[in-house]
Order: sequence, then structure tokens, then C-alpha cells
Amino acid sequence: MSEFSRSMLDVKEFNGEETAASLCIDCARHTSLKKMIAADCTTGRCALCARDGVDVRNPDKLEPLVMLIRALIRFHYDEHEYNPHWGGDSVMSLFYAADNPILEPPKSNLYVDDFDEWLNWPVYPDWDKGISVFAGHDDGLRGMNFAISRTNPADFLVLQQRLQTENFFQVEPTLEELIAPFLKDIEILLPEAEVWYRARLGESAIFRRFPFAGWESKIVRIPWLDKDIGAPPPPKAGFGRLNRAGVSVMYLASDPYTAVAEIRPHPGHHVSLGGFKSLKTIRLADFSPDISIFATSDARLSLYAVIQAFDRLMSMPVTPDQRTPYLLTQLLAEVLLRHGFDGVRYRSSVSTGSNICIFYPDKFEFVADCSEVRRVEGVAYEMTTVPSELAPGPEDRPYNRRV
Ligand SMILES: [Zn+2]
Repeated sequence: MSEFSRSMLDVKEFNGEETAASLCIDCARHTSLKKMIAADCTTGRCALCARDGVDVRNPDKLEPLVMLIRALIRFHYDEHEYNPHWGGDSVMSLFYAADNPILEPPKSNLYVDDFDEWLNWPVYPDWDKGISVFAGHDDGLRGMNFAISRTNPADFLVLQQRLQTENFFQVEPTLEELIAPFLKDIEILLPEAEVWYRARLGESAIFRRFPFAGWESKIVRIPWLDKDIGAPPPPKAGFGRLNRAGVSVMYLASDPYTAVAEIRPHPGHHVSLGGFKSLKTIRLADFSPDISIFATSDARLSLYAVIQAFDRLMSMPVTPDQRTPYLLTQLLAEVLLRHGFDGVRYRSSVSTGSNICIFYPDKFEFVADCSEVRRVEGVAYEMTTVPSELAPGPEDRPYNRRV
């Protein structure tokens, strides 16, 4: 029996009945957790809200759920936020914060000790058998864990740096080695006849329509259609996040809003929208997979960290004069192409939708019934205040940026 199974939990007497606690679907905030509870669900008691008779994860199969919570902690938080050794409070304290993205704050203290124990024990499972939220400073080498969502792994950074001084074909074998362990895990199939969207600034023509009767006229716009909103042919193809100049690929978005937001129009701009339908099943490398696929061990989670680094780089907005960030993702596209992928899926940084880049634009065809022109009425920015000073102080050192 596994260390995380029912036997290790404090079985408490409640109304004369022995019950092992688990986690209910209402106390899980993160969608990956909700999915995992739904996948093996039973009626039982929740350790966070202490309710009985609710939908909980099967308490005999807690280990995958505990590892997923640990993975989510590693994804969202730097270790100093929860490790007392580095000045944090405790792992459990993360979930008392009202805005934490993982769990509802505990509503009862009755079973919180159980929950705390799941997160902390065993502290250091084997690298390939479980996930530790702590890096472990006992050997003086491992240091501190930094949030996977904000940190590029060392192997990834080395590749980026090498591309500043070496040609892509010199770097390619190392990139190949880095991505080989997870290529099978991120393969997804996009079904035939699925419609995705593209946007292009402006319209192909503007008319003033005069009705046959009356005096009122109106402006009518004709959107860019078919090839005019599709992928440009090779001679006209500029560089993109997943293609070098002269290589024709098709970038598509999952919904009209994402398609428009991705071209970053200004308020007052008119934008043409167009739909493209897949002509066959499309094999994609998905760089925004569910974290639960990689939440079984530290070894697996380290692969997810590399995938996330690529996903951030692909979705990062870059101005036309900044070419170098895309050298690595352009090379990635070529390696994926050789491995038989038709394209790549990555997150959108401007919406909740996703983007795909298709290496063979003729695997999609234009569908006229999605075409229209939209006017951008406004653009919303969200911002927070970050620490800033007019000049560095005596404690400030130059920062080698990680992302
Ligand atoms: Zn609950």
C-alpha cells in the first residue's frame, strides 16, 4: 500500500463513525484538481471544509491528487513563500490566502493537520517517484525552488544563449535531446472540420451604400477574404514566432476574440476576421498541456518546466525589431516538423484562448461564413505596482534576468 493511501491518514471518529478525509470538488479551485477529483469520485469527508457526504476524491487513491497539489505549488510559488527556512510561513499557509489559485481556504481546522501532512510527508520522495515542494538545502547544492510559471530552466537558457553566437544547426542536436523525453506526452490530434480564426488589420474595400429610396446612406466594409487573410506565400512571409522569413506557415486562434487580440489593434481600428477549417486530422505538439500529465514525479515536473518555458516564449509579445527571442522557437518548429508534427499549439498571452501554428497552410481551407469586419472599441490593460526606485540602493545588484 502506498504511503499516501488511507492507512497513513489520521482516521478520526466522527459521530461514532471512522472516516478518512479527502478533498471535495468544491474546495478544489484549480480546474486540473477538479478534473482529477471527478475522475475518481466518491462520497466522503473533505479535509478543508470538514463536510461529510460530499463528492470527494476516492480516499484510497489520494497520492495522484496530493502530487498534483504539490506540482501546483511548485508551479505558482517560489519556495521562500512557504519554506520557513527561507523566511516563509508554511505550505498550508499558502491556502489561507483568499486569492490563491489552487484551493479554497480551509473552513474548518478539524482535518487541516491531515492535509498539511499530505503536502509535507514524505518530504523528499525519490526524484522519479514523487514531488517535493522543497528543493532541499541539506547537500548545499540544490538551493531554492523558483516558481515554474516564471522561471526558465537552465538547459533552456543555455540554448537561448548559444543561439546568440552559434548557428541553429549547431544547437539543434541539444534542442532535440531536450524535447525528446516529452514529445509523446504533448501530442494531440485536432479533428477534421474544426474552424479556427485569423484576423488582419483593415478591410479589402469600403463602399458607401445609397438605398434606392430615402436619403440615409451607410458605410459598408468588405473584409479581407481567402488568401488575403490566409498565410502569406513564402516570398512574402516575414519571420514569426515559429517560422523564419521565407517560410509560409499559418497562425490561427481558437476564437475570434483571441484572433483579433493577437494582432494587437488600437481602439478605432477596423479588423477583418476570417475562418479556416481543418481538411484532415491535424497532429499538434501542445505546449499548454494539463499539468496533471506531469504531476507524478519531480522528473516529470522538470519536463513540464521546459514545456512551460517554450510556451511562454511562443506566447510572449515581441516587437518587430526584437528578432532574437524567436530564434529558439523557430528552431523548435523545424525539429517538430521533422518529427512528423503538423503544427504547434500554445497559449495566448492576450486572452484565455489558444493559438496554433500550422506548418502546412494547405491543411486548412477558408470558410466564407465566418468573415466579417469588427471595429475595436477599446483595449483594457491590467497592471500592478512593482517595487521601483529612482536609483539603485546599497543592497541592489545588477539582475541577470531569467525570463
Ligand atoms: Zn471541501
